[in-house]
Amino acid sequence: MSFSSLGLDPSLLENLARLGYTAPTPVQREAIPAVITGADLLVSSQTGSGKTAAFVLPGLQRLRTPPSLPGKGPRMLVLAPTRELAMQVQKATHGYCSGQKLLTALLVGGMPYGLQLAQLRKPVDIAIATPGRLKDHLDRGSVDLARVELLVLDEADRMLDMGFQEEIDSIVARVPRNRQTLLFSATLAGVVGRLAARVTRSPKRIEITRREEPKPDITQHALIADNEAHKGRMLDVLLREAEVEQALVFTAMKRTAAELTLSLLGKGFTAGALHGDMQQKERTRTLNRLRDGSMRVLVATDVAARGIDVPGINLVVNYDAPRMAEDYVHRIGRTGRAGRAGIAVTFLGHADRNLVRQIERFTGNKVSLMVMPGLESRRQRQSGG
Ligand code: AMP
Repeated sequence: MSFSSLGLDPSLLENLARLGYTAPTPVQREAIPAVITGADLLVSSQTGSGKTAAFVLPGLQRLRTPPSLPGKGPRMLVLAPTRELAMQVQKATHGYCSGQKLLTALLVGGMPYGLQLAQLRKPVDIAIATPGRLKDHLDRGSVDLARVELLVLDEADRMLDMGFQEEIDSIVARVPRNRQTLLFSATLAGVVGRLAARVTRSPKRIEITRREEPKPDITQHALIADNEAHKGRMLDVLLREAEVEQALVFTAMKRTAAELTLSLLGKGFTAGALHGDMQQKERTRTLNRLRDGSMRVLVATDVAARGIDVPGINLVVNYDAPRMAEDYVHRIGRTGRAGRAGIAVTFLGHADRNLVRQIERFTGNKVSLMVMPGLESRRQRQSGG
């Protein structure tokens, strides 16, 4: 299949040919024609799938029609979790639009306001923004979203993981209701699904994610935890096991990751945290310390840990239980790499027993409920173990 069958303008096709793109990727094949029809979309896809072009190309096509409203505000708005991703989207946009007269504004945190305000004084076609900084601009009255026709939420799961829910909601409330909305995320379940239900209208779902099969050489256990202190004591015991080379510990929130890392450092472990809003440099430094063995315990959130491949990790601890079975499979897949054996231990609250059944159904593997001698849960002590 070629790009020409997707309904894109010839001049865009020429730009793609110049960039050396010969065929659309699966997400482009599905999403581009759907965006052109004007539908709202929920797309599950990974970084590297070509998702940027999947929304930028039909977006550029839409911007060739004259605006329906006068004014200076952007007609297309892209929200992205980090400055780095926003910059990549802007760069890709400039590559795809060559020959089309177009003004973009990059509204991201960690950059001076002056340049952004200057950009916003001219009529903008596309604004690419991180939620925090865009919210600041809205509060200052420096940007007007009344002309937005196409709203894109890129890596929505990461934005939520970084705590941007409120900013996203207040931004969306300022965009016209009759807009078209495209939401891209690695997963469409859980909190992302609820956000999607708030911001889209009868969306078409496109699922590109491949299912990762759990590896057979991972032993899976669960432990019932009464509270944070109980989890902390059990984690301590697990990490002191002689056969544990390196461990990856998952928390639900970046704040827990940071706090837990401090507490582990206090206990003498070489530990570090990895979460969604770290700068690329910091992230690379942390991963290098893990790879060269100078860090033994990495505490991470789901999103930050995606794709980590360090053979020394032979223990994965779900300090906070994953939200769903898919996340569980991604998490435990960080051990048992390169044909080595791994252990996955999940701390469960008393209310999480359902999750185990869900995971067992999804993976087809048994998760055995274990008891740590001397560290039984309250209920286990009451029932005599
Ligand atoms: P993304 O997933 O949007 O970050 O894109 C990943 C990389 O793939 C980027 O460097 C794009 O330039 C490149 N890319 C996207 N679509 C295509 C395509 N159809 N053919 C070749 N390269 C592509």
